[in-house]
Amino acid sequence: MGVHTYIYLGPYVECTHRKMTRTVTMRACTKKECAAHPNKLGKSITGNFCPVCGLQLGDVKFEVPEFISPYDVVDDELAPLSSDDGEGEGGRTFCLCPNDRREGDPADRRGRMTDNEEFALDLRTVDMKAEMDWLSKAFAPELVKLRENYAKVEVKWGLHQYVR
Ligand SMILES: [Zn+2]
Repeated sequence: MGVHTYIYLGPYVECTHRKMTRTVTMRACTKKECAAHPNKLGKSITGNFCPVCGLQLGDVKFEVPEFISPYDVVDDELAPLSSDDGEGEGGRTFCLCPNDRREGDPADRRGRMTDNEEFALDLRTVDMKAEMDWLSKAFAPELVKLRENYAKVEVKWGLHQYVR
C-alpha cells in the first residue's frame, strides 16, 4: 500500500477544537514530584513498583485533553481534509470539505486530485465568495452542529495538500 498526496481546491470549513479535559485513572507512580507521575509522564506504567523512584504504584487521577471527533458531529457529507481527527494539544484546528453533491454546487472542477495525476486549472473566473456562500447554505444543518461542538467554525476557500 502506497502513500498518496492529495490536493483539494475549493470551499472548506475550518474548525477549532474547544479546550476540554477529562479525568482518567491510570496505574502509575503516586509521587507528584516523580518523573513517572502521569502529570510528567502522561501515561501509565506496568509492574508493581515505580522504575524511577521505587515507590509502590497506585491508581492516579490524571487530566487528559478531550476532543470531539467530527465523525461524532456530522456524517461524512463533510469529510476531513487531513488525518487529524482530534489527537494532540488543545486549540488545534481541522478542516472539512464537501463530500456530497448538493443543490446549486458551483464547483464543477472541485475534486480530489492525487499525486499521480497531472492537471492544470484556469482559476480566473472562480468566484470564491459564491462558493463559500454555497457551502454555508447547502451545508447549513451541518454547520449548526459544528458550531454547537467547536470553539470556532469558519467557512474558507483554499488549497489543501494532504497525505493518506
Ligand atoms: Zn516514582
